[in-house]
Amino acid sequence: MFNRRDAIKSIIIGGTASLFSPNTLLASTKTKKEKMGIALVGLGYYSTDLLAPALQTTTNCYLAGIVTGTPEKAIKWKQKYNIPDKNIYNYQNFDSIANNPDIDVVYVVLPPSMHKEFVVRAARAGKHVFCEKPMAPSVSDCLAMIKACKDNKVNLAIGYRCQHDPNTQEYMRITREQVYGKVKMISCGAGYFDARTTHWKQNKALGGGVMGDMGVYALQGARLATGEEPIAVTAQASTTRPEIYKEVEETMMFQLQFPSGALAACHTSFGINMNYLQVNYEKGWLKMEPFSAYSDNKGSHSNGVINFPLKSQQAKQLDEDCAAIMNGTTLIAPGEEGLRDIKVVEAIYKAAQNGGTVKI
Ligand code: NAD
Repeated sequence: MFNRRDAIKSIIIGGTASLFSPNTLLASTKTKKEKMGIALVGLGYYSTDLLAPALQTTTNCYLAGIVTGTPEKAIKWKQKYNIPDKNIYNYQNFDSIANNPDIDVVYVVLPPSMHKEFVVRAARAGKHVFCEKPMAPSVSDCLAMIKACKDNKVNLAIGYRCQHDPNTQEYMRITREQVYGKVKMISCGAGYFDARTTHWKQNKALGGGVMGDMGVYALQGARLATGEEPIAVTAQASTTRPEIYKEVEETMMFQLQFPSGALAACHTSFGINMNYLQVNYEKGWLKMEPFSAYSDNKGSHSNGVINFPLKSQQAKQLDEDCAAIMNGTTLIAPGEEGLRDIKVVEAIYKAAQNGGTVKI
């Protein structure tokens, strides 16, 4: 049986596409199903408050299934979102999702230490995979996830919602087109006060620590605003609440050097509310505040303002990633983009531990 998922896969991979023209494939399968079915794995805060509501408004995908370790949540979600029993899985029977044609994409929204296991299992089940940031706690996990998706000929997208936000795209454009010349210096801060005392974000084994969590926003701010990859880092970890942050850092300050000579000073914390990006160019400046919120990101620069309204960042991300898969076009933030950040995150931890400069 040549089903819709096979069709989508062959368009992306180009494997069997020689037998059929991609347009014919898409047209013939579109009549079967207009939207991709998404299964959310992990029904915590982000799935409950942001992704599931966004999936009620998307045009290219819908909430088709759930994977949860908590039976009570399964009952609640089934009623709230009208999810059929056959599309509800737990962590043990998850692999049988391979036989479910309703599910096209598995979206992993678990603590970071669990990302690799569920991305690999989803890929082996033949499903495309979306994975939340941070991609994983280590470069080796990221590489294993990318390989599993390649080996199984499925796509892997990282949940970098800001890259789908036109406000982010605008500050990227200003650098790319050298509107104010080259970037000289960046300051970027991403943090919030987390009042929780026993969450996975405070647990090292589960992938906690602020650097992978809010830190990737500050790192993305610097990487996207320069359009470059850092070549060296220094870093300082600290905590003001050692009774809570026993295993991981509450705050990380890190400094990046870029090949062009641009420098970045970045700050991230679970103890401080901050959300800003400042870029100083040869001939101008840009400031965004907030720069990485769910909504209302905005800013100004030497000659103008940045303020593009956006209904739902998450809905745009989901729709654009599904469209890319259906049309066989490039994903905005594939697994390789998640890996780029984790390479720098590893270097930052090393620098914080050794106290010196770490080259990347
Ligand atoms: P959360 O703690 O609210 O939810 C985690 C889920 O994982 C829960 O349903 C929990 O039951 C489940 N789980 C399974 N095994 C677990 C274990 N051993 N320990 C703890 N939980 C376990 O977390 P969250 O805030 O929803 O974050 C989940 C992922 O989403 C993380 O990767 C996080 O960085 C990411 N996230 C992204 C954004 C964004 O803006 N893109 C925002 C928030 C969270």
